[in-house]
Parts: sequence; C-alpha cells; structure tokens
Amino acid sequence: MAVKSRQYAVIGLGRFGVSVAKTLHQLGYEVLAVDADEEMTQKFSDEVTHVLQADTTDENSLKAMGIRNYDVVIVAIGDDVQANIVTTLLLKEMGVPRIVAKARNELHGKILEKIGADKVIYPERDMGQRVAHNLVSSNVLDYIELSSNLSLVEVKTPSAYVGKSLAQADLRARFGVNVVAMKRSERLIVPPLPSEVMQAEDILIIVGSIEGVQRLEEQE
Ligand code: ADP
Repeated sequence: MAVKSRQYAVIGLGRFGVSVAKTLHQLGYEVLAVDADEEMTQKFSDEVTHVLQADTTDENSLKAMGIRNYDVVIVAIGDDVQANIVTTLLLKEMGVPRIVAKARNELHGKILEKIGADKVIYPERDMGQRVAHNLVSSNVLDYIELSSNLSLVEVKTPSAYVGKSLAQADLRARFGVNVVAMKRSERLIVPPLPSEVMQAEDILIIVGSIEGVQRLEEQE
C-alpha cells in the first residue's frame, strides 16, 4: 500500500496508544510512535514506521524529533496526568497543527481544552457507555454520544416496526429521533425515503436526543 501523505505521531505506547498507532499504520499512514520506556519502543518497532524513545515533557526532545512537522499528534499518555498535560502544552507552544489528547476524566479534559488541544478524547468513558447501552438492549449494536444531549445509535430494527415504512413508524414524532441511514445486507441507504419499508434484518442508524434514543432502545 502506498504511504499516504498525512503524518501522525503517537506519544505514549500503552494499550490505547498502541492500538491507535497500529491502526493508522495499517491504514497506510506514516506513524511515529514515541514512548519514554525503551522496552515499549522495542516491542513495537515492527508495527509502525518509526519508533523513538524519548521523554516528551522535555522540550528539547520534542524539537529533536521534529514533532512540529507532523500533521496530527496524539497524546496517549494515560496514567501520568502531569506528563500528559505538559506534553500537550509543549506541542501547542511548538505549533503542532492538530493535537488530539486523551483525558482520564472531565476535569482533565477541561484542562486539555484550555491549553489548546484540538480534540479531547475519553476512550474509557466512551467505551463504557457503548458497552452499557449494548447490555441494556440487545438491539443496540453501537452507541456514540455526539454531545451532551445528542447521540447516534445503531440498532437492529425493533420487531414492532418490521414491515412498516419510516413514515408509518413515525419515529420522529414518537421519540424525537431521525433515521439518517439504513443498512441492508452490504447496502447503505442514505438518506432513506419516508416510504422505505423496514425489513427484519435492517439496521437503523439513528440520531436523536439521548432521552429519545434511550426510549427507542427499549422497544423490543
Ligand atoms: P493505557 O492506559 O492506554 O495502557 P498507560 O498510561 O498505561 O496507557 O501508558 C502510557 C504510556 O505512556 C506508557 O508506556 C509510558 O511509558 C508512556 N509515557 C508516560 N510518560 C511519558 C513521557 N513523559 N514521555 C513519553 N512517554 C511517556
């Protein structure tokens, strides 16, 4: 696969950082992976483009590795909140175009936003929510919170709606949610027409208020 032009750097090779770095590499991007721990860097030398042992709370180390030249830097340091914050701050000061930082909790996330992270991610919280929604309803295949009051959910068609058109089911009036797409076998129907009839194997991709989506999830 040809190497794509955007360059990524991932700092912190814990479970999360490794997963991000490996996936980007598999997708054909150039990836620099950095960790303070030499053992970590040795372990992953075959799975990313470059690996480097460095303490990223040291400005000179960041300069030496030319971190400014990377388009996106992901700060995946988890346990050491101070190192995570200091690294993010230095990257910002050095003018990295896009910084994605992993937060342990809301307060940590607020700090990262304040110091200029372009995107703050909460992998544990998000995965916890997905798993919980999936546990509560076997219809739920995936769940993503888009904002504090809006979520996106992928659900199997509740049996009560099989054979009905979207217009007949009127999920918008009933739950205040919108079906933005339907998956039928390999085919994606976007956007579905109001006349589209839901089949038993269809998967609905729905956007709506958290409360509305939750009520819909409760449908058998
Ligand atoms: P996870 O929860 O995703 O497994 P961890 O917090 O366990 O993440 O791992 C983060 C990684 O970040 C560790 O391998 C650690 O060596 C690395 N790390 C911690 N501090 C620094 C630092 N200052 N510079 C570079 N890497 C660091």
